[in-house]
Amino acid sequence: MDKYGVLKKYFGYDTFRPGQEELIDAILDGRDVLGIMPTGAGKSVCYQVPALLLPGITIVVSPLISLMKDQVRALNEAGIHAAYINSSLTEGQIEKAFALACRGQYKIIYVAPERLLTRLFQNFSRQTKISMVTVDEAHCISQWGQDFRPSYLNIVDMVAGLPERPVVSAFTATATGEVQEDIQCVLQLRSPKVLVTGFDRKNLYFEVRSGGGKDAWLLEYVKEHRGESGIIYCATRKNVEAVYTALRMADVPASRYHAGMDAEERRRSQDQFIFDECPVMVATNAFGMGIDKSNVRYVVHYNMPQSMENYYQEAGRAGRDGGRAECVLLYSPQDVRINQMLLEMKEFREEMTEEEIRAVRERDAERLKRMTFYGTSKDCLRGYILNYFGEKAPRRCENCSNCLHEFVEEDVTEICLDIFQCIREMRWSYGVAAVAGVLHGSASARIKTAGLDQLSVYGSRSGVAEVRLREIIRDLIGLGLLEESGGQYAVLSLGEGVQEVMDGERRIIMKFPRPKEKKAPVQKRKAGIAGDLDSAGWQLFERLRALRLTIARQMGVPPYIVFTDKTLIDMCVKRPKNKSEMLEVSGVGESKYRRYGGRFLEEIKDAGEA
Ligand code: ADP
Repeated sequence: MDKYGVLKKYFGYDTFRPGQEELIDAILDGRDVLGIMPTGAGKSVCYQVPALLLPGITIVVSPLISLMKDQVRALNEAGIHAAYINSSLTEGQIEKAFALACRGQYKIIYVAPERLLTRLFQNFSRQTKISMVTVDEAHCISQWGQDFRPSYLNIVDMVAGLPERPVVSAFTATATGEVQEDIQCVLQLRSPKVLVTGFDRKNLYFEVRSGGGKDAWLLEYVKEHRGESGIIYCATRKNVEAVYTALRMADVPASRYHAGMDAEERRRSQDQFIFDECPVMVATNAFGMGIDKSNVRYVVHYNMPQSMENYYQEAGRAGRDGGRAECVLLYSPQDVRINQMLLEMKEFREEMTEEEIRAVRERDAERLKRMTFYGTSKDCLRGYILNYFGEKAPRRCENCSNCLHEFVEEDVTEICLDIFQCIREMRWSYGVAAVAGVLHGSASARIKTAGLDQLSVYGSRSGVAEVRLREIIRDLIGLGLLEESGGQYAVLSLGEGVQEVMDGERRIIMKFPRPKEKKAPVQKRKAGIAGDLDSAGWQLFERLRALRLTIARQMGVPPYIVFTDKTLIDMCVKRPKNKSEMLEVSGVGESKYRRYGGRFLEEIKDAGEA
């Protein structure tokens, strides 16, 4: 069988995704590889397909127990013999697994890095032909990254100790150049094929919502997406509790996760989510590492994270199955301040020097700034993300809230000149709210007691709403024309390029949402994964989803391991009538067909007769 045969038979797919084939070919040619692909791009297939074609065993080093379990479960479902070895097994179980492995029972073995230098592993690895060592989450080997794991350094010694050097393949979603070089160097990859696929996730829709009313909107949104799985990220435990309670009160099957819960509670919550008993998860960023759940249809950030790196990683947990999914950020300026405060309170290891601490603080502040600009940008959001990660992007993607919503452009140069003047008169000592308040002529006590109502600029822009003034100031910060200091009491100062505006050499055009009364009928995006289905298709999808849940409960596996949402959708589109038609559905391989094909065929037939 060749690589296409393996892809079809075991995974049920007809074609490779971008990058997969090149990496697989290189591995089969005996070359080391380094694959850098975003979450959900399909890294596993890149080593699992060659693992089945190579003569010996493939060892996969992976940092997280939950991830290993999930992968092995999925492989077993696909009819591939695989096992994992980590601290969740007893010594007796580990011995048994190695004994079976020595007898050639498994093609793929997942091993925790801590296990690599143990006597048991070494006995096994010297007796058995190891064709490939795969390093998953390979950035864990780099001290540059945030997830450095000293035990990953064991990999190098392990490979060096093998009787015959296997192919070494490494995969990560972390793209920075330093980390990439480090991986190659520390792992001692031999003239590897390095492949970086784009960071774009086409199936994800991005949206930013600003303004208040987060709770009401969220409730509405979650209800609209009833039956679908989603994650809601909050900045603090307190917010997690509040949002969780609100959802529960509205009968939404939600679970929660944060570091304040004990390990058992967290495990239970996580399982309820993974097994779709409670498909909505409300969590802090402590949740998600090692969660492979492929049918997460939306990720809502109730609070803004501290960097685009964090945002994209968390949002990227949506739509891993390649089906349509949504990533919504609920932006509020207050979250910026809370993050600034959290960063100020950040603790550093004792051995760090003043200078190192300053460098980290500066980097953190810069990252938060860029995250904030994402929240206020009026340009294509996907473009913003891709540019941030160093990729080129078309001006519009037509699949984010900024591309789909209508904006009108307005020349705001004169207002900006007043803003500059105001900041000067206020002696560079005030922040966004005070400057906007003074220009508008707000009668707030804060302004009066500070005597700001005596300034000549006070009320000079009374015709412009205060929120609009704040918006313009935020955009000016985004453009670099104003600078905002860090700290709890952020103050504004003039940035580079202001002189040009004052000299009349540069006009400032900004985009604003089209006023409501003039709004053209808004293009209503079809909601959810099944947006492409007609109503009969939708009904069938619901039936198949229910059948999947029943089967998953019977088998004790997460529903997405039975079939992904995307596979169910494809069934609803193709409506297979027999085995050969069922095998044409994307994601139905032979093993899965044998296990479940009949029941799904029957359900489709019944639905057609109903
Ligand atoms: P990553 O490890 O890169 O985050 P995964 O390996 O978990 O991504 O793959 C994400 C999803 O994409 C899985 O559901 C997988 O089955 C699916 N997938 C992988 N390769 C293909 C392919 N060639 N065609 C269709 N789906 C694929």
